[in-house]
Amino acid sequence: MSNLPGDSALVLFSGGQDSTTCLAYALARFARVETIGFDYGQRHVVELGQRAVLRARLAEMSPAWRSRLGDDHTVAIPALGEISQTALTRETEIAFSASGLPNTFVPGRNILFLTFAAALAYRRGIATLVGGMCETDYSGYPDCRDATIRATETALSLGMDRAFTILTPLMWLDKAATWRLAEELGGEILTRLIVEETHTCYLGERGKRFDWGYGCGVCPACQLRAAGWEKFSREKAGG
Ligand code: ZN
Repeated sequence: MSNLPGDSALVLFSGGQDSTTCLAYALARFARVETIGFDYGQRHVVELGQRAVLRARLAEMSPAWRSRLGDDHTVAIPALGEISQTALTRETEIAFSASGLPNTFVPGRNILFLTFAAALAYRRGIATLVGGMCETDYSGYPDCRDATIRATETALSLGMDRAFTILTPLMWLDKAATWRLAEELGGEILTRLIVEETHTCYLGERGKRFDWGYGCGVCPACQLRAAGWEKFSREKAGG
């Protein structure tokens, strides 16, 4: 199996809190960082609109980050939206009430995203993928689990005959620790940027501003983000 240079990374960047923290993490470690985003007709498509804003603001944070931040790629996957629609009409209520999964839930979505990302990384000569998957404070997606990511890494490396590494810096962090990591990486400028400009709400709402940012305040994603911010703020005040 051949190796690709290890100085570059491709970040799965949706414009949400987690992937923005991952982008900062990659900018602090790699000489060249590119980003990839997926448009599959998601309800929270507003998230995608924040990507360019966030990339520009991260580049402003340091000359090193500006020089490292490379191309952005967006991939449209309309087929994923069609599968999602099927799930919507058939299983919405069960999915939402039983497990808290949003009605845009598409089984195995992260495996698809990582496969597209690896195919692009292959062409771009990039060996490292960075994603915000997390199994500590997650919404119940089995494809966010570490075992799934490790198996996907193996499958992609074998299937493309390239030694890919998938970094998941948030895997074992709860949401409060994710805010802390952002603060370590970029200080209060970065946590403020994440509050103001990242989007997490599943319903795509940006109307109401809470301490932790914009959202509906009641969907599972908003509740997770709110609880994490509260814990982070409490710990900060206490120590
Ligand atoms: Zn929400």
